[in-house]
Amino acid sequence: MTFADLRQKLKSGEVSCKEIVQEKINRINKLDTTLNTFLTVNADQALSNAEHIDKKIASGESLPTLSGIPLAIKDNLCTKGIKTTCASKILSNFVPPYESTVTKRLLKAGAIMIGKTNMDEFAMGSSTETSAFGSTLNPWNISKVPGGSSGGSAASVAAGLCYGSLGSDTGGSIRQPAAFCGVVGMKPTYGRVSRWGLIAFASSLDQVGPFANNVVDVAEILQVISGKDELDSTTVDIPVPNYLETLSKSIKGMKIGLIDNCFEHEGLATDVKESVLGSASLLENLGAEITNVSCPRFNDGIATYYVIAPSEASANLARYDGVKYGFRSEDEQSLIEMTSKSRALGFGSEVKRRILIGTYALSAGYVDAYYKKAQQVRTLIRKDFDDAFKKVDILLAPTAPTTAFGSGENIDNPMAMYLSDLLTIPANLAGLPAISLPCGFDKLGLPIGLQLIGNVFDEAKLLQVASQFEVAAEVYKNRPKTDFTL
Ligand code: GLN
Repeated sequence: MTFADLRQKLKSGEVSCKEIVQEKINRINKLDTTLNTFLTVNADQALSNAEHIDKKIASGESLPTLSGIPLAIKDNLCTKGIKTTCASKILSNFVPPYESTVTKRLLKAGAIMIGKTNMDEFAMGSSTETSAFGSTLNPWNISKVPGGSSGGSAASVAAGLCYGSLGSDTGGSIRQPAAFCGVVGMKPTYGRVSRWGLIAFASSLDQVGPFANNVVDVAEILQVISGKDELDSTTVDIPVPNYLETLSKSIKGMKIGLIDNCFEHEGLATDVKESVLGSASLLENLGAEITNVSCPRFNDGIATYYVIAPSEASANLARYDGVKYGFRSEDEQSLIEMTSKSRALGFGSEVKRRILIGTYALSAGYVDAYYKKAQQVRTLIRKDFDDAFKKVDILLAPTAPTTAFGSGENIDNPMAMYLSDLLTIPANLAGLPAISLPCGFDKLGLPIGLQLIGNVFDEAKLLQVASQFEVAAEVYKNRPKTDFTL
């Protein structure tokens, strides 16, 4: 069911909002003890908001677009009065006194916030295994990871625990879990969506974006959260087009470029390669012109990112000092001892690794060799994309080199874990919008993600191509069999 179907059912009285919300809560109660996609379930408030909406419907009031639709929110987005932990012990007792701009906009559009989703601690990871509150499992196969860092947001949509969700994408954390969980996930252009109230990881890369079962629902959420925000000076004041209007337009004559560097990579699984190349042929059948383009520095993205992102993280995470908010170690006497111990006990090992790398890369003797050099390479990566977009409208690549890997498989091997973001990171470094959507399955029946990358602020075209592909490919009709608790 799409949001439009739900709206229709609510309007006709076929189902009440309370019934819709109760059905999701029952499903969470049944399945989430296994999956662990939610850190907080906002059941009471969700039900009382649903009753409120039912009253409005009964009185014939016209309601905003997302009215009555249960959505889940990644636990790094501040929600007023609702615990927001970033899946970290250091924020385990943090209840924000304010609402993030994106959640404020969703609530204003009538959405029901059903809960806060599990994630890698401070959004650092690719498997939702670095959460301080236990791993999330992949609903397609519970021995596999759901991807990360927004694994809870992706898996909750895949398992039907909500109709859509928000995640954040710094290096692939929306697209990679979307690919692993067989749902649609989109990272908007840097500056399209407000970061106000998003707990910062790497501020020049972070973007909030939607997950849903299909492209049209993703477009609906994006429509609501996009646009200038006075509270975030990096949001850009250009009009937000009507994304829904162009979804059904033909892509005949559209130029789509296959990023050839992606397909040369030795770590690319054969099933993934074949499925993504097959998707390109399908787009060609729909009238698009497929060409090969080269982004020579695409594969340098990962090295560049793992200097820039930890550097920014080390600065952003300096605020968790045991004084201002969050966890405090009580058994030390001096300020320095208290701060050190609070950070030592409050942060997990991946977060500490990033703080150490970042502090090192920014230190006086190394800042030119590492941080500044990485910024220069970042500019060159953006230049490659600019050149590519002189020739094509949209770029095409796999989302991740493999399908979902096994739980525990990469957790002690940071390099292997980092490599799963190889194909998503370049879009973040260049600030470009990108979407992942299901395009097939591997031999084990695990979903494969197709990634489309657009030019800056060209979300409309990206959604159009994605929607045309989705309708033709019909991959979304396969859903995971969530009978694993039986
Ligand atoms: N997996 C990447 C990292 O650990 C990306 C995370 C993200 O996009 N938040 O940094």
